[in-house]
Amino acid sequence: MYVQGRCYKCGGFLAVDDAQDASVCPFCNEAFVVKMAIESFNKTTSQETGVKSFPYNNDSDFVVERSVLIRYNGYTKKDIRIPDGISVIGETAFQGMNNIESVYIPGGVELIKEGAFSGCKNLQAVNIPDSIETLDRDVFNGCISLRSIKFPDSIKSIGAGALAGCTSLEFVNIPRKLELLPWRIFEGCTNLKYIVIPKRIKTIEDCAFAECTALEDVKFECMHSDGDPSIGVTRIGMNAFRNCENLSSINLPATVERIGNQAFRGCSKFKRIIIPDSVKAIYPLAFADCTELEQVYFAGDTDLYRGSNPYKYEKNSATFYNCPKLVNVTYNDLQKHYWAFPAYNKAKEPEYIENGRCRHCGGEFKGIFDKICSVCKAPKDY
Ligand SMILES: [Zn+2]
Ligand SMILES: [Zn+2]
Repeated sequence: MYVQGRCYKCGGFLAVDDAQDASVCPFCNEAFVVKMAIESFNKTTSQETGVKSFPYNNDSDFVVERSVLIRYNGYTKKDIRIPDGISVIGETAFQGMNNIESVYIPGGVELIKEGAFSGCKNLQAVNIPDSIETLDRDVFNGCISLRSIKFPDSIKSIGAGALAGCTSLEFVNIPRKLELLPWRIFEGCTNLKYIVIPKRIKTIEDCAFAECTALEDVKFECMHSDGDPSIGVTRIGMNAFRNCENLSSINLPATVERIGNQAFRGCSKFKRIIIPDSVKAIYPLAFADCTELEQVYFAGDTDLYRGSNPYKYEKNSATFYNCPKLVNVTYNDLQKHYWAFPAYNKAKEPEYIENGRCRHCGGEFKGIFDKICSVCKAPKDY
């Protein structure tokens, strides 16, 4: 079974297989003992992720109404401790306070509301106690100094954009009860290299990892679900991994059913993609601008959607638009979806012409005087 671990050599958060004795850390490439990595994760305290042990706390700086922290007025303090007895950190309570470097959140806090710490540009460390169940949208959006955050399993929901634009974020785990990775959760986290998607996640929403330009490895725990059909990612949203330009491959689980518009657009390191036979629909431009992509393999009956303009020779909505090296395609419905693979058909053009077929798609012509392609309706022009 996969469980959460932490590399005790470099501090990175990992998923580890507890049936194994040892493994290699994807961050530092050092070997580690699995048991010790699990222990290290469990023992990670707020101090270890940089939260100060003796932070400043003057209760009169906190505006509290019936256990809701409304506002903080300690504008010059660096390391702060939220007082005990708080259950909710209110909307934008600390928003944009560039004085803050670390925050200690006491146990008992259950909810952090919208934008509570957003834009705290110098916030480096914060602990999330295991009383917290909900993080609303944008709670840490734009915390550009935050390098590491450990989420407890008590978290049941995280709102859109919660960690978007955290450009230093390197080590983060996704809570294991979550079923949905919300819109823009990690968008623009340009230092994030590795992420583990826990097996309960069903939906990766739009833009979840968009512009994560350093992301090298995405590991789906549901790959190890032993065939349990209730487990696994089914939907990858629009722009979900757009411009993840360091992602050299992605091993999609055999539970994915739809791949959204531009989901992998600009993943310019992809060389080869296997689309599992569970995938039923791929939306326009899903793999556009994958400029190094050479080979695609579809196992099942995947419908490729073309967008709004199906009757023109509209290459701009092709699934594999601007994939100039993609000449190796395995797919049952290749001719029906000829428009999705412009580079493939361009490479085949001399052969099509030689065989008297349509230069665009390889279809046969019909008609005696004005010959028209039976597949794409283009006129014969050679
Ligand atoms: Zn390591
Ligand atoms: Zn044709």
